Amino acid sequence: MDVIAIDGPAGSGKSTVARTLAAELGLDYLDTGAMYRAVAFAVLRRGMDPADEADVAALVPELQIDVSDDAVVVDGVDASIEIRGPEVTRAVSVVAANAAVREELRRRQREWARARGGGVIEGRDIGTVVFPDARLKAYLTARLEVRAARRHREVSEMEYETVAADMARRDSVDSERAVDPLRMAPDAVVVDTSDRTVEEIVAELRAAL
Ligand code: C5P
Repeated sequence: MDVIAIDGPAGSGKSTVARTLAAELGLDYLDTGAMYRAVAFAVLRRGMDPADEADVAALVPELQIDVSDDAVVVDGVDASIEIRGPEVTRAVSVVAANAAVREELRRRQREWARARGGGVIEGRDIGTVVFPDARLKAYLTARLEVRAARRHREVSEMEYETVAADMARRDSVDSERAVDPLRMAPDAVVVDTSDRTVEEIVAELRAAL
């Protein structure tokens, strides 16, 4: 299987780099963050408490999540816009800290890759947990103010300070949780994307293949 794993914190440039790399190499692309967001969306939609581990664990196995290049559909409902909104963004890290959620999504991610013979897969634990034998592992990072500015451009209706604070909080939950925290794989190619173009980063990763 030909898997390229792209991990890193929010706003590190994972999606842009992973999509570009996938297009250049003719591989499929999977955004695993969108899958966790889809679970958070379903939890909120049902009026459930994202922190209720047992309730959330019982919900995931039956959830239909379809993450494609242009839409995220949850139980037949197009959630593409809402999964990027502030409510889901606030709840997602709590849901992603649930071991049962991770186990189920990990299984689906491996199934996705097996069905395609691989792909470019982005997330937080792809090179460390989901595909430790990936052909290439990249860990993208950037200075907090750069990452927050990138996210702020996407959600311009929110104050920059709010975006930066939410992001710092999400980073610390993702890095400090007990199950599959955000970590750099020892053999990852580490790229600080703060002052570099997408073309430069993609070229560096291609050279490492
Ligand atoms: O990548 P994105 O910012 O959309 O991810 C949303 C959230 O999903 C992350 O903050 C993290 O809590 C969770 N996530 C994860 N493991 C992954 C991908 C995302 O825990 N592989």
